[in-house]
Amino acid sequence: MQVVQGDITKIAADAIINAANSSLLGGGGVDGAIHRAGGKTILEECKAIVARLGRCPTGEAVITTGGNLPAKYVIHTVGPVWNGGKKQEEEKLADCYTNSLKLAAAHRLTSIAFPNISTGVYRFPKEKASRIAVQAVRNFMQGSNEIMQVIFVCYDEENFNLIRKYLDYF
Ligand code: ADP
Repeated sequence: MQVVQGDITKIAADAIINAANSSLLGGGGVDGAIHRAGGKTILEECKAIVARLGRCPTGEAVITTGGNLPAKYVIHTVGPVWNGGKKQEEEKLADCYTNSLKLAAAHRLTSIAFPNISTGVYRFPKEKASRIAVQAVRNFMQGSNEIMQVIFVCYDEENFNLIRKYLDYF
């Protein structure tokens, strides 16, 4: 596991993870940035997934190609909206990381980049979110035979410092 500060749309990984919403139709923040940089094929693939399977539930993940991005694939996962912590937000955030990694493994993808899911518009407390992110990725790696390189791509310095702290801590 590694951490960098920057823009995830510039990362040439096998897959970058998108902090999507359940409509999969794009939005603000990192979702908007990925769709802008990746072009319209990503949105078309998302629409086809919704037509087939319906909206993507919180904590789950789906995969599209990377369109014009340097990444080969985009894994779209729906983070929980923070509602005070009594609506299983912590479990659902961990599910986002675990289900994204399971999907990556199923597609034999080995380099994966995550943004700080739910810590923008969805208001998940950054300290808690960083601990959950690092723990969930570590648990997945310890429990599977997959060899994966996971990079946390933090847009803001606060998340960068928090992820660095928890990478040292665990
Ligand atoms: P959510 O709705 O899951 O909270 P946001 O996109 O609002 O999603 O925010 C999630 C995180 O993504 C925030 O920490 C935000 O700073 C970060 N972010 C925004 N743009 C980018 C980008 N281009 N690359 C990486 N992270 C980004």
